[in-house]
Amino acid sequence: MTSSQNCPCGQGQYAACCQPLHLKQQIAQTAEQLMRSRYSAFALQQIDYILQTTALGQQLALDRAAIADWSQSNQWLKLEVVQHQPKLDKTHALVEFKAHYHDGMQAHIHHEISHFVLHQQQWYFLDPTLDLQITMKQPCICGSGKKFKQCCAQFI
Ligand SMILES: [Zn+2]
Ligand SMILES: [Zn+2]
Repeated sequence: MTSSQNCPCGQGQYAACCQPLHLKQQIAQTAEQLMRSRYSAFALQQIDYILQTTALGQQLALDRAAIADWSQSNQWLKLEVVQHQPKLDKTHALVEFKAHYHDGMQAHIHHEISHFVLHQQQWYFLDPTLDLQITMKQPCICGSGKKFKQCCAQFI
């Protein structure tokens, strides 16, 4: 893929859309932008970017091989952002989306409502599928320093 090609997320040219985020030249300004860049990262097998944009306290629990396999074994057709709620509270946002993909046999739509957390000016994805080894009274997975129960537990 060259930079002049269309971005997988559907918002114009890759070089002016998700590429600067993948190259760490820019950071996502909104949860929606982060979500789009994560979709594009799946489409382009930028696995490190997927890992690095997941909540800090969850990154070690991610299965890199499984993510790489999921990324490679599907053809990523189109992203539709259904809704973006940028301020659930000061540091949390919601993005509902449909990721259209083809697994080689048939087309699928992955419909998800994702939650994101803002930590030190950067957005991170809160992965609801991970087994969290954390109690409600422990410091939150996002790094905020608040108790988990008073922070991301409400959104995961
Ligand atoms: Zn994009
Ligand atoms: Zn948190």
